[in-house]
Amino acid sequence: MNRLPPITLSAKGKPASPRLRLRITATAETILRSGHPWLFADSVREQNRAGQMGELAVVYDRQNRFLAAGLFDPDSPIRVRILHAGKPQTLDRDWWRARLDQALDKRRGLFDGQTTGYRCINGESDGWPGLVLDHYDTALVLKLYTTAWLPRLEEITGLIKERLPGQERLVLRLSRNLQTTATTQFNCTDAQVLHGSPPTGPVTFLESGLRFEADVLRGQKTGFFLDQRENRRLVETLARDRAVLNAFSFSGGFSLYAARGGARSVTDLDISAHALAGGARNFRLNEAQPSIARCPRETVQADAFEWLGESPKRFDLVILDPPSLARRESERPGAIRAYGRLAALGMNALQRDGILVAASCSAHVSAEEFFEAVRRAAAKSGRKFSELQTTRHAPDHPVNFKEADYLKAIYLKIY
Ligand code: SAH
Repeated sequence: MNRLPPITLSAKGKPASPRLRLRITATAETILRSGHPWLFADSVREQNRAGQMGELAVVYDRQNRFLAAGLFDPDSPIRVRILHAGKPQTLDRDWWRARLDQALDKRRGLFDGQTTGYRCINGESDGWPGLVLDHYDTALVLKLYTTAWLPRLEEITGLIKERLPGQERLVLRLSRNLQTTATTQFNCTDAQVLHGSPPTGPVTFLESGLRFEADVLRGQKTGFFLDQRENRRLVETLARDRAVLNAFSFSGGFSLYAARGGARSVTDLDISAHALAGGARNFRLNEAQPSIARCPRETVQADAFEWLGESPKRFDLVILDPPSLARRESERPGAIRAYGRLAALGMNALQRDGILVAASCSAHVSAEEFFEAVRRAAAKSGRKFSELQTTRHAPDHPVNFKEADYLKAIYLKIY
């Protein structure tokens, strides 16, 4: 593995080449001062030399004062991911340790022994730009979204082992766009086990007392959608005696909570047979709970838009949790329309006094835009409806800038 010297801003430990120094546009200065964690390539006005992947770049303002420091990425339009802005600081091992402890402290007291799957580090919003750390019982999954961390992998692994001792393993996951660089330049791969023995199968963990599998080696994200826990908990409280449709069910998270909450039946609807099979396994894992053992589970493998358009079935609770419908800004208007269409289809599948739970994980569509699209669809349906509530990010998924603010859900009662 290539290594860079530890990140430090101290005058001691002088780096071999002069510190990478950047000057940026006035607008970008304001943006960084406001705490935004990204510096885009087209905001860089001056740079003292070419920068290396992952090295520490220091940004100076027009008065030549320290403004911020962050990880340089020569290959990304996000040229620097800010680690620290404000007064100069020494980014030594103690600093990194404190930063990790801050993220861990934020989660302290949030979960009891009934929830052993949760997010420990949520990227930029926890001061770790482009890096996620999820905890699944005795396994940790480190997911990287930028190559800028690759030269620091050993350092980070060491720190995680020190601050989160007693874990059986630490698995590395790499977002698709960095897998080639990781293999060719840093000799590491997606699903590599950085510490401990490779898992022999999916990792089992608890969420609110329910057992779930996480496919930490190959699953989407880090193996499970931990971000929907709070919505699942809410669904449990709404599910009693209802026939529940869990559209875009993935591994059946919402259905398990609904079943425990006394649902009359649950139907998992997903386009992927693999996802539905995961849902079946999760159901079996929880059969010791009487309300789950009692609850009939059906599955439908289909495109949710098509199936909902044709299905005469009527449910009492419909959950819509599609994948992101806008992967880029240009897709935003189309996505807003698609969310409206989906909500209308979901409402169509609802009996009188039914409940619609519609979620969106597109950062490009704002919460208000999404809520309005669903409300408009409800108004257009001609049925009476009332809004039960809206929800945002879970406490272990904090967000502190717009681009990271993706998850929102709205709950409507349809009469
Ligand atoms: N609600 C889930 C997460 C959903 S992830 C949870 O709580 O864990 C999105 C899911 O939508 C994936 O399982 C994917 O297979 C499925 N999917 C994607 N496009 C689909 C479509 N057109 N119709 C039905 N399912 C789809």
